[in-house]
Amino acid sequence: RAKSKGKDGVEFHTPDMDITVAREVELHVELRKALDAGRFELFYQPQTDLRTGALAGVEALVRWNDPVKGYVPPSEFIRAAEESGLIERLGEWTIEEACRQTVRWKRLGLPPVRMSVNLSARQFRGEDLYRNVRSIVRETGADPRQLLLEITESVSMQDVPRTIRIMNELRGEGIRFAIDDFGTGYSSLQYLRSFPVRHLKIDRSFVTDLLRAGGSEPIVKSILDMAGHMGLDVVAEGVETEEQCRKLRQLGCGEAQGFWYSRPLPEAEATAFLCKLKGDSA
Ligand code: C2E
Ligand code: MG
Ligand code: MG
Ligand code: MG
Repeated sequence: RAKSKGKDGVEFHTPDMDITVAREVELHVELRKALDAGRFELFYQPQTDLRTGALAGVEALVRWNDPVKGYVPPSEFIRAAEESGLIERLGEWTIEEACRQTVRWKRLGLPPVRMSVNLSARQFRGEDLYRNVRSIVRETGADPRQLLLEITESVSMQDVPRTIRIMNELRGEGIRFAIDDFGTGYSSLQYLRSFPVRHLKIDRSFVTDLLRAGGSEPIVKSILDMAGHMGLDVVAEGVETEEQCRKLRQLGCGEAQGFWYSRPLPEAEATAFLCKLKGDSA
């Protein structure tokens, strides 16, 4: 029976089938250490108003800055953070850092920028989300009206009335909500009807497939039509080409986000981007 020593001197029994489990536990330990050591950073991806070309907002996207591996994308650690329960601390850190960033930009004399932050379903599980967010907003001095919290359809599957109650409490503070990756979940329409959301983000897969014959154009049209009737703002995700951008504008989509406009930028570059926009418009 193979035995290996974990990072903290914990001994794992690792017959073949347990190797992945051991690796996962190791990842949980590494994530916790990274959080303690302040190794997470937020990148910011601009969102553009398709009607005016102006900046509509930014989305904060977390990165793990590991001294050896470099920037690790969320696809490699968010699930582990959720499973280990660390997402509650990481999620709070993310909201706090995003709030602090809005204050730093304000101090630089930049116009208030809408700041989108992703929330995990698990962050709705405890009773503390509302109180924590409220105290983060107060302590950082951020304007809650700049915050737009992105939730996915999986959030609702847990406990709908409670989720709605927490969302309404946060709405009472001036915080807005968006549904992320819209169209990929199971409960889209039910969601739209009952959740206090103002924005929809059309999932990247529909944008990617938009211009193909027999592709996703009818779906995108339907989403835009429905959103229009419900008074919801729509952001298209993952816009990579000028053609996609033109098509979305033609279909009446309000906002776009994607590599065509900008990759997610580290703080210094995002700040430079915003300063340049301000300079150009002055
Ligand atoms: P998301 O919220 O749907 O974020 C959009 C993702 O698409 C980002 O990936 C972004 O870098 C990527 N993206 C943007 N434009 C383009 C494009 O034109 N082409 C392509 N191929 N990709 C594009 P990222 O940063 O790796 O984040 C992945 C997911 O991880 C996010 O998807 C979100 O669900 C999650 N995530 C990111 N930050 C956080 C966070 O702070 N908390 C939580 N709970 N989840 C987060
Ligand atoms: Mg998002
Ligand atoms: Mg998304
Ligand atoms: Mg997505």
